[in-house]
Amino acid sequence: MSSADSSAESGAGFPVLAVRGPLVFQPVKRRRCGVCRGGPLTLLALEDGQPRCLDCADLGHLVFLQRGDTALTRRAREESGLCAVVVRFHRRRGRYERQGLLVEETALARAEARCLADAEARARRRARDAERRAAEDVRFVAAFAAAIRRLFPGCPEERAVAIAGHAGLRGSGRVGRSAAGRALSEGAVTAAVRAAVRHGDTPYDRLLMEGVARREARVRVAGTVGAVLDRWATEAGTGAA
Ligand SMILES: [Zn+2]
Repeated sequence: MSSADSSAESGAGFPVLAVRGPLVFQPVKRRRCGVCRGGPLTLLALEDGQPRCLDCADLGHLVFLQRGDTALTRRAREESGLCAVVVRFHRRRGRYERQGLLVEETALARAEARCLADAEARARRRARDAERRAAEDVRFVAAFAAAIRRLFPGCPEERAVAIAGHAGLRGSGRVGRSAAGRALSEGAVTAAVRAAVRHGDTPYDRLLMEGVARREARVRVAGTVGAVLDRWATEAGTGAA
């Protein structure tokens, strides 16, 4: 289609559309095919300034692919021997705008299959990444638990694993995922154990529920927390509790 043909459709001057292959219009007005009189047409081609239905323009075997999916559009164009750009005149903007493509149905199917294969490849990669992260988590928790048991040999193994798992929860922002936690520093390990003992071995949580101020509650349980930590630090390992 020449740009003169496109002008005829809009009845107005318009910027030249640089498209390869046939151009197809979504008509703004009701139009009928100049050959078979079919219509009103939802899509038409122009020949000598006259509207043609897609069948009369030998484009009837093509299917419409709405614009929007860039990868699918590019691939459908690559796969399709014959490919028509579909445009519609936007009155307010005073220009033709692309609406999509007419492509061969088999080409669209192949393009969709390629995009699907990509999506499946991405899904497989995500699954592998998730597995890798899970393995990292397992290693991290084991290392953290071992660090707890080195500093606190008297801490029952079950408790150590539970504290490490709690500290290592991905994205929790707890001490275990901090840089110090990653490095399994003595400070980070001790902080995690101290917090676990405070919540699990003292009435700290109950005090908070009863309305005791946090600072006051911490003071009240500090002796018990310190005693448990001291015992765990000095006691020989008791093995799996
Ligand atoms: Zn026709």
